[in-house]
Amino acid sequence: MVHNQYEPIIGLEIHIELKTETGMFCRCKVNQFGAPPNTHVCPVCLGLPGALPVPNKKAIEWTVMIGLALNCTINRHTKFDRKHYTYPDLPKGYQISQYDEPIAVNGHLNIKATKTSIEKLVRIHRVHLEEDTGKLIHEGKDTLVDFNRSGTPLVEIVTEPDFNSSEDVKVFLEELHTLIKYLDVSDADLEKGSMRMEPNISVRVIGQKELPNYKVEVKNINSFNFVKKAIDYEVARHIDFLSQGQTPPQETRGWDSQKNCTYSQRTKEEAHDYRYFPEPDIPPILLEQSYIDSIVVPTLPQQKVETYMKKYGLKYADAFILTRNKASSDAFDLMIKQVEKDDNVTGVDIANAIINKKITSYEEVKRMKAPKVTDSGILLTSIEKILSANEKVVADYKSGKQNAVMFLVGQVMREMKGQADANTVREELIKKLT
Ligand code: ZN
Ligand code: MN
Repeated sequence: MVHNQYEPIIGLEIHIELKTETGMFCRCKVNQFGAPPNTHVCPVCLGLPGALPVPNKKAIEWTVMIGLALNCTINRHTKFDRKHYTYPDLPKGYQISQYDEPIAVNGHLNIKATKTSIEKLVRIHRVHLEEDTGKLIHEGKDTLVDFNRSGTPLVEIVTEPDFNSSEDVKVFLEELHTLIKYLDVSDADLEKGSMRMEPNISVRVIGQKELPNYKVEVKNINSFNFVKKAIDYEVARHIDFLSQGQTPPQETRGWDSQKNCTYSQRTKEEAHDYRYFPEPDIPPILLEQSYIDSIVVPTLPQQKVETYMKKYGLKYADAFILTRNKASSDAFDLMIKQVEKDDNVTGVDIANAIINKKITSYEEVKRMKAPKVTDSGILLTSIEKILSANEKVVADYKSGKQNAVMFLVGQVMREMKGQADANTVREELIKKLT
């Protein structure tokens, strides 16, 4: 709950592992989640002296595609830089990342704001490409390192601090997750850590124009719900400080999903000087305009929502649900192509069948919508058959048990494999019985 007087200011950093075959700068097989530790490594991703990195073309192409899908400007001049810091999961002592010439800048992604249902534009500050680090595994007193993950192409997406609520953050992350799935460039599996999120949070008094003079980053969260909880926890914590006339300390925190709280990791007094400089082993990259133009962005979920509404008359809620999952929107697209004029099936029927009945084949929808048997001869034959097979129920009805007729309706419907109108069956039955 946010105190009336204050409003949160939230920005996001999102890391997404690309599902390329090989590493960002080496030929190791990547995305080997669950493989025995340190079995997919080489001198390049282990950072051994003298090893030379060679950028992965596919990773660059997919990062451009993400940039385009997020309405960014693609920097035709782009380069890699070394970002220095010391940590056991980073054997080189620096990460190859991008500093002042990222692949994509200045984009946006629209979401439907939770409180107002109005389109809200979230600005994308930048999209850059880097390499993932190894993974630390804590076993009792020991910390082990698995370098299989190191060198996996990693895209970092940075938003502007455009959020004022944790609900909107969650909506944005879900939208982004769906978009990435449509682009088919990452498995974006949160549980495996292929999509990791870092909200940065501060709070200001409502009406204040300038951004707060501090911010708190919560590192490496891998669930949308945890991101929301971490933000809510931080906002309340900051309001405590502010309402006592204090500024919350600028720091980096972690999320404890057991205790449902954040905890301090490091304060920004030891703020990192990453000493960025251009990666000397990789020449700057010039992306030709013709190359950028050749990268095709597939139809995105938001465009599909619009088409489904305008062209096929779906309600927003249904169009939204259908497009959340690429498999169901693919099913819809396929089935809508199979519609023939005389089938009596509409886009709305198909949407209902997929959403409510989990039907995924056009044949089934067609059967569902098949015209009911109106031939009264067939209906009456079925009724006769059921009546003579259920003498006791008939007697019950005649002695005043009105409900007995419903049993008979059910039996007739079953006899006719559902291809009859239940009301007509009931009327005809009552006629016969009286
Ligand atoms: Zn390698
Ligand atoms: Mn990063």
